[in-house]
Amino acid sequence: MIKSDPSVNIAIPKLPKDISGLKDISLNLWWTWNPRGKNLFKLLNSYLWKESSHNPIAMLQNMSQDELDKACQNEHFMREYHYVYDMFQMYVNDSNVYAEEPLPIAYFCAEYGLHHSVPIYSGGLGFLAGDILKESSDMGLPMVGIGFMYPKGYVRQFIGTDGWQNGAEEPLEKDVAPIERVLNVQNNHFTIQVPFIEPAVYATVWKINVGRITLYLLDTDIEQNDPWDRQISSRLYTTDMNQRLRQQIVLGIGGYKVLEELGIEYSILHLNEGHPAFALFERIRTFMEKEQLSLEDAIEKVKQTSIFTTHTPLQEATDVYNFDMMSASFKDYWKKLGMNKEEFMGFGVNPDDPAAGFNMTVFGLNMCDNRNAVSKKHAAVATEIWQHVLPTLEEKKVEIDYITNGVHLPTWLSDELAENLITVLGEQWSLIQDDPVLWGFVRDIKDKKLWRISQNSKVVMVNFIREKVRIKYAEDGIDPMVAMAEGVLLDPDVLTIGFARRMTEYKRPDLILSDLERLEKILNNKDKPVQIIFSGKAHPADMNGKKILQHIFKIAQDSRFHGRIAFVEDYGENVAKYLLHGVDIWLNNPKIPMEACGTSGMKASLNGTLHLSVLDGWWPEAYDGKNGWVFGSELSNSYEDAKELYDLLENEIVPLYYDVDNDGVPTMWVKKMKEAMSTIPAYFSARRMMQDYLSKFYIPISKKLQKNSLKKGKRDEKKNSN
Ligand SMILES: *Cc1c(COP(=O)(O)O)cnc(C)c1O
Repeated sequence: MIKSDPSVNIAIPKLPKDISGLKDISLNLWWTWNPRGKNLFKLLNSYLWKESSHNPIAMLQNMSQDELDKACQNEHFMREYHYVYDMFQMYVNDSNVYAEEPLPIAYFCAEYGLHHSVPIYSGGLGFLAGDILKESSDMGLPMVGIGFMYPKGYVRQFIGTDGWQNGAEEPLEKDVAPIERVLNVQNNHFTIQVPFIEPAVYATVWKINVGRITLYLLDTDIEQNDPWDRQISSRLYTTDMNQRLRQQIVLGIGGYKVLEELGIEYSILHLNEGHPAFALFERIRTFMEKEQLSLEDAIEKVKQTSIFTTHTPLQEATDVYNFDMMSASFKDYWKKLGMNKEEFMGFGVNPDDPAAGFNMTVFGLNMCDNRNAVSKKHAAVATEIWQHVLPTLEEKKVEIDYITNGVHLPTWLSDELAENLITVLGEQWSLIQDDPVLWGFVRDIKDKKLWRISQNSKVVMVNFIREKVRIKYAEDGIDPMVAMAEGVLLDPDVLTIGFARRMTEYKRPDLILSDLERLEKILNNKDKPVQIIFSGKAHPADMNGKKILQHIFKIAQDSRFHGRIAFVEDYGENVAKYLLHGVDIWLNNPKIPMEACGTSGMKASLNGTLHLSVLDGWWPEAYDGKNGWVFGSELSNSYEDAKELYDLLENEIVPLYYDVDNDGVPTMWVKKMKEAMSTIPAYFSARRMMQDYLSKFYIPISKKLQKNSLKKGKRDEKKNSN
């Protein structure tokens, strides 16, 4: 009935028959987490590969017919092509890894961090959702993703000479992104109308292949919509509350409608954060309509079969829509549910502040019996801040469970390390990646080898940063002091601290700059120097975040630090990978308990980049006294935390790094790297996280549903025999 036709938007010059599979490979993000897949494109044309920022579709479009024909004559390339294509086909056609299979799951999220060629993400929440899709694909879980297309969505960061962050919208180039139009039977772009919402709004549907999983994206930038509604999907997390509400209606209710119309089967609804929570209303409505359930029974079924994951320890971070705004869109909708306005709004009223409006987190907590926070610490905080909502839910004790986040290991592991890990972990390591015993074998890697790999990643990172600045210099003719601030003087032989995350107050990006005199001594130590690399974007509306960034940038331009402080522009998936693999230390110092989980430290530790962090988010669950460092406390102030950080650097960290043996290897440092790599990846893998979602939610819900349908089946049988 419905099909997708990539030929509409993917115009690759006549791809020779012998390598026609390149199109299938480039239209599935599988290659992004398979080193041999990445390497295949690089082999084809390493210069264009770099030029295209590792985007196979853009690269193939830029290749000449002649060049493509020639590739078919290249024996080495063809051998590699057949190998990769076979692996790819085996992967996508393979059945499940897991014996106990849940019923299908629909996963909703406002953003997905998958690859930089699909810029539909802003930060941590998106990368978590992306990793969940990738891991579900690897595990063969029956999942479908729903998200949003942001045609103008991505804001590139440009820092001016004065250190002020300027944003430039980068339009999503649909023709060179690995996305496909979903077509209807008439070969037109499949379009839905969001049900019963006033005024009417329409969305077309695109899809992305994430291995074996399909992610559907809604796009409102179409002619049927009036100009204002065309903008609904323009950008992520708009601060215009009216527009934001419309966006979340399209994502939740429209997204639900897409699944219905495409005839996609799913039994379990998983909401990642409150943004798509309106899907719960549509779920109630369709249960009433299709299964003839009463409103009460429909609500009960929604509660039992839906999962709500909360990601913030802050009440204020939740979207709250005033009732007038809600009424304007939903005034026909609540009638369809057989509710009046008060009942409808009641699901989102925060008893602490009932006049404020409809609260998306309160709604999610009210309407899903399966709720989780994203780390053990976050569960305690979330249960406390939502205490006033929780007891009203049911008589029985209600709390927020936790499933600590994990990261998709094949995505975040450096290629060079992956190649070497195979020798100690075995070819099939990824099948048992969540087994802690497996990672103990990391200790069998020779110290010298591990050290060489990590230091080589640092060289690669420094080269990448310098090249980035060189291009900016060539194009914009920037001031040399700005070039210095952006990292041209970095030295790959120096102990390197990385701080890369959102530039916002609670993350305290400038904590390490608290005492500049003391810092100067640490950085400029003659035989034990240290350098710091900062990176991260401020939210366009976060003036305070922009000021912090500007402060850092000014200090990076201060000649007394000898070019040992750098700020790398435009943090995103690409920059993150270079830094995570390349720096020696990953610094994390949010104000406790503001970090719900954090995942970048997990990615760092996997690569032997040591985590230096306050005990917040995931770190209390991981820190064992040897696999990284801790400093600061919940009760101390920033000044005290900074002092502790300097002490730790001076007394322990810097000496450890520069204490080298006759081969130039800092053996005690490498021991710590191995400790991190052998104790952290198994538990903080997306594999373990998905196993938790399976055992806590997906499987129990499936069993309940199957039991109920059995019961119902029996009842029907009885009825028939009577
Ligand atoms: C992992 C990741 C994040 C989230 O990291 P935090 O630890 O939550 O700051 C953000 N951005 C990018 C590019 C990432 O890869």
